[in-house]
Amino acid sequence: MTLRTRFAPSPTGPLHLGHAFSAITAHDMARAAGGQFLLRIDDIDQSRARPDWEELIYEDLSWLGLTWDEPPWRQSEHLSDYRAAVEHLAGRGLCYPCSCSRRDIAEAASAPQEGTPEFGPDGRIYPGTCRGRPMSDWTEGMAIRLDLAKALPDLDVTFTETGPAHPGAHRVTLDTLLAQVGDPVLARPHMAASYHLSVVLDDAAQAISHVIRGEDLFDATQLQRALQALLGLPTPTYHHHRLIRDEAGKRLAKRDDARAIRHYREDGASPDDIRRMVGL
Ligand code: GLU
Repeated sequence: MTLRTRFAPSPTGPLHLGHAFSAITAHDMARAAGGQFLLRIDDIDQSRARPDWEELIYEDLSWLGLTWDEPPWRQSEHLSDYRAAVEHLAGRGLCYPCSCSRRDIAEAASAPQEGTPEFGPDGRIYPGTCRGRPMSDWTEGMAIRLDLAKALPDLDVTFTETGPAHPGAHRVTLDTLLAQVGDPVLARPHMAASYHLSVVLDDAAQAISHVIRGEDLFDATQLQRALQALLGLPTPTYHHHRLIRDEAGKRLAKRDDARAIRHYREDGASPDDIRRMVGL
């Protein structure tokens, strides 16, 4: 099997040192194995994506010396596929429309018992307020959620993680998913699909064998694994790498413009300097 990795930035701001670390890690892993490295532009949120940020992604990555083996996969060019998947699941009676605002959800969620999380990788764990509403109620401004218990009553699957923080096999069951994620959003209002749904469809369509990404997405993997089971998609191996942090220990965010690759580039740093800065 050919090892295929990908880097999937959102064009919503400049790439920073954390992105550089992620992209280089995925790239080098593919190259070391004689495999392929792919680039995905995660521009599903059309209200935030900007063409100039996308252009900067290509410039920064090329400057870093990275090459990708296929034309970039742009999510905005696959919206009808994501929508078809939502409609397929809705057609099977597994979805419901949801009009809850964040505030509604916070107010409806009962005080969590000790040891049970309040938030999961899909936001605040949804208390199920709209569960059971018919899809005929759905209008453009509403989200579409998956009724987990109905969709995956016998869920019991695993995925393999090779990253440093949680190495080994991880089990995903309906009970763990309901407790740690809740009924996930498949499509946000005015968006074709949620990040979680689009990413599992894309990883399958691009035949990604190894998902290399930051540790902040480790908790999302159980949900993505469940969606793969539901849609009959293959499961890649996962590798969640350490996060690059600032001096105060805070992980870098898009607004940390000072650590943008383009600034180091303009200041005369070399790609090897960047590798050193992120500990490679
Ligand atoms: N677009 C996501 C991000 O920038 C990454 C998605 C993924 O690697 O699965 O955080």
